Amino acid sequence: MLLTLTTTHSPATDLGYLLHKNPSRPQSFDLSFGKAHVFYPEATPERCTVALLVEVDPVGLVRNRRGPAGEGGALEQYVNDRPYAASSFLSVAIAEVFGSALSGHSKERPELVNTPIPLRVVFSALPCRGGEELLRKLFEPLGYSVSARRLPLDENFSDWGDSPYHRVELEARLPLQQLLSHLYVLVPVLDNDKHYWVGDDEVRKLLRHGEGWLALHPAREAITRRYLKHQRSLVDDALAQLADESEPDPDTAAEVHALEEEAIERNISLNEQRLGSVLAALKASGATRVLDLGCGEGRLLQALLKEKQFTEIIGVDVSHHALEIASDQLHYDRLPPMQKARLRLLHGSLIYRDERLAGFDAAAVVEVVEHLDAPRLAAFERVLFECANPKTIIITTPNREYNVKWETLPAGKLRHRDHRFEWTRAEFQAWANGVVSRFNYHVRFLPVGPEDAVVGSPAQMGVFELHPDS
Ligand code: SAH
Repeated sequence: MLLTLTTTHSPATDLGYLLHKNPSRPQSFDLSFGKAHVFYPEATPERCTVALLVEVDPVGLVRNRRGPAGEGGALEQYVNDRPYAASSFLSVAIAEVFGSALSGHSKERPELVNTPIPLRVVFSALPCRGGEELLRKLFEPLGYSVSARRLPLDENFSDWGDSPYHRVELEARLPLQQLLSHLYVLVPVLDNDKHYWVGDDEVRKLLRHGEGWLALHPAREAITRRYLKHQRSLVDDALAQLADESEPDPDTAAEVHALEEEAIERNISLNEQRLGSVLAALKASGATRVLDLGCGEGRLLQALLKEKQFTEIIGVDVSHHALEIASDQLHYDRLPPMQKARLRLLHGSLIYRDERLAGFDAAAVVEVVEHLDAPRLAAFERVLFECANPKTIIITTPNREYNVKWETLPAGKLRHRDHRFEWTRAEFQAWANGVVSRFNYHVRFLPVGPEDAVVGSPAQMGVFELHPDS
């Protein structure tokens, strides 16, 4: 079975440092079920491709067999797709051959480990039991563009029909470590075949390699069931642990930390100024159907409800707790029917593709980007600019330069403990300009709050508009 992985990151040969495999030296590794070979069909500063070729020895597998026999009886043990198709053997090979890259270590390029880089993976034969639809359900929410071609059972006998195998290409801008974790978990999920023993250890492996993405994946239940080969008690255990992972974080932290942030910003009631600026920009855009993404406790929603222009208002947040507070503050249960019909609160994460967000006029993303892990920004960009794709997008975020003006804020600290980063004006603008060059938007920047001649305003706003021709 063959997998190739290409990057056009500059210099592309950094791929060798990330994988701890020298592009100029082919290497082979002994595995318990066969052999793995690693080599680079191309390695230039512009483009670098690594190939992982895994040879599975089905006869050796029968001799060294652990666990129960396959279901297909004696013949299937010898004649099967293992040598040709990507399966859990590929996951084992990835873990053995690219172990340090999979766990996010790079001695030579530590700064690249968490950097999203353009990556393209090609599987020569990937079994998709569940069809192309399942393939898309698994990879698209993680930010991949997927293309797949179903392979015939035998090119010489077309009436035998199609096989479950596909030639698959996946493309994404992600840290390499994340891509390897996705493959490690999802390839066996697609295969869904029983050919190795599943024990308690598999729950641990699933949670370890699913860390940071599986708990919020819309297909997490199906992934967990298939990965653990439908063994009920293991599946229940893993899902319970995943629920723990997805819940408490945003909720418990958000409340306390929001108070801290409010105290720091209170002096000039930045909150109100920000709300005013966002509302004005939304009104000026002419939008009637709007999204408030990362709506938190619903302050903007409240302001939007007061404006008749907005006929459909959707608040989205990853935190159940924030949504409950929003619903209380808005007295959602007691709203008159006409008002209630205009407003909906949805639970969802902005780093997973979500069809419910498509088809709106405008989206506001107020003080949310800085809460996303930097490596997740690429996924967020696609969810917002490509999938939701509203005509107008308004993004606000703190201006880090202004932090020197907050008396209560220690030097070098961020305003909020949940902030993963805070951008200077140049950094925000560089990010936004990158986004509009990849998606069909243009952007203008506005200050929010009183402007200082040197450090600018406390918050910054980008107003993105879709090009009229799209
Ligand atoms: N827009 C609101 C809240 C800002 S606080 C306001 O201006 O008052 C940031 C909010 O983003 C929090 O409510 C947090 O739960 C939410 N959030 C963080 N990560 C998210 C994600 N991945 N998807 C959706 N919401 C997220």
